[in-house]
Amino acid sequence: EPVDGSASTATSGLAARLDDLRREYAALQARGLRLDLTRGKPSAEQLDLSEPLLALPGEGAHTAEDGTDTRNYGGLAGLPELRRIFAELLGVPTEQLLAQGTASLTLMYDTVVQALLFGVPGSERPWSREEQVTFVCPVPGYDRHFAICEELGIRMVTVPMTSDGPDAEAVAELVASDPSIKGLWVVPTYANPDGSVVSEAVARRLVSMPAAAPDFRIFWDNAYAVHHLTEHETKTANALQLAEEAGNPDRVLMYASTSKITFAGSGVAFFAASPTNVAWFTKHLGIRSIGPDKVNHLRHASFFGDAEGVRAHMRRHREILAPKFSAVTSILAERLGDLGVASWTNPDGGYFVSVDVAPGTASRVVQLAKEAGIALTPAGATFPYGRDPQDRNIRLAPTMPPLEEVQVAMDGVATCILLAAAEAATPV
Ligand code: PMP
Repeated sequence: EPVDGSASTATSGLAARLDDLRREYAALQARGLRLDLTRGKPSAEQLDLSEPLLALPGEGAHTAEDGTDTRNYGGLAGLPELRRIFAELLGVPTEQLLAQGTASLTLMYDTVVQALLFGVPGSERPWSREEQVTFVCPVPGYDRHFAICEELGIRMVTVPMTSDGPDAEAVAELVASDPSIKGLWVVPTYANPDGSVVSEAVARRLVSMPAAAPDFRIFWDNAYAVHHLTEHETKTANALQLAEEAGNPDRVLMYASTSKITFAGSGVAFFAASPTNVAWFTKHLGIRSIGPDKVNHLRHASFFGDAEGVRAHMRRHREILAPKFSAVTSILAERLGDLGVASWTNPDGGYFVSVDVAPGTASRVVQLAKEAGIALTPAGATFPYGRDPQDRNIRLAPTMPPLEEVQVAMDGVATCILLAAAEAATPV
């Protein structure tokens, strides 16, 4: 939940501290740091948790439970024992879940490309034959979703994120009135970057709202479904089931992966949807590939054993990650808490902390940090085309560096936020 402290009240008090802050910043620069909070990557310590995968499935252990020789072609939908484990975790029927390659982003990209080339079930024509295709993009959001739209010529309209997910009223109004709107990006659990979780009520609204386009789709990217930072393990609203109950069974396309469970780049990606959508996706998949890497599927299935195995594994990730996130939020609270120059999220899961600094100063903060040897995600990255109209959002990714580096970097970031706010509050 956002911490109270409105950025707009950042004014005179800070301007008076400008000289002090400049000295503090010069001292920070003099330390010659080389720190990096840009990437939402797992740390080496996290990757070590999955090291046994490198010896699996093991010489001679290539046979799946149904007798399939995983070394050979085939099995387009993915290995059943792995699909079963993740079907339970994602709350979908196993038959409606495909296990595929190493990146859910690829599955999203493929879906959009296929929709452009062929249309989806319910389309009057391929999306590329429409005069215009528009996606609704909740902001701040995930830059790679926006990059897919940008590359493929899809117009983006933004709606604000709330602590319950995308602003459902704003989405509903757009989707009901504009037939060019074919898609909505949603990260339902511990969203990138603001950590919000889509509530049951918002999920119901999104799957049941009237849509002007008969082939409107929600891209439900559940990248952080099991990535809890607290003992409370949030359960994602079951969008597929809710959509079916609402009479819109084909509206939701669900994605997930083990990129931040096992190995980022050598994990397994998943796609789930209605039987109609799965048949549509599989038809094109079968042209594109003779079958996925079932050896990797088997390796993952034998590593986890069952859904409880995944949950236990994620608790070990949590032990590594929770102290880093609490370092970020406690340093921000200590250094900026009562000054009204910034607000930030305090996520219960996922990979990011989202900070709103004084309007107009986010790029300056990132520049100051860079010149002090602290790399931050470019300001604007959380908005379509990399443009934050208020220049105030910054995404922090504390998972990759060791805890001590997160602490040093965050103290430096706090100095940069204060200095940028003080500069902005100082009349020239
Ligand atoms: N979706 C979101 C919201 C993400 O944050 C990420 C990773 N940064 C991805 C998808 C990418 O997942 P994958 O590795 O499965 O392509």
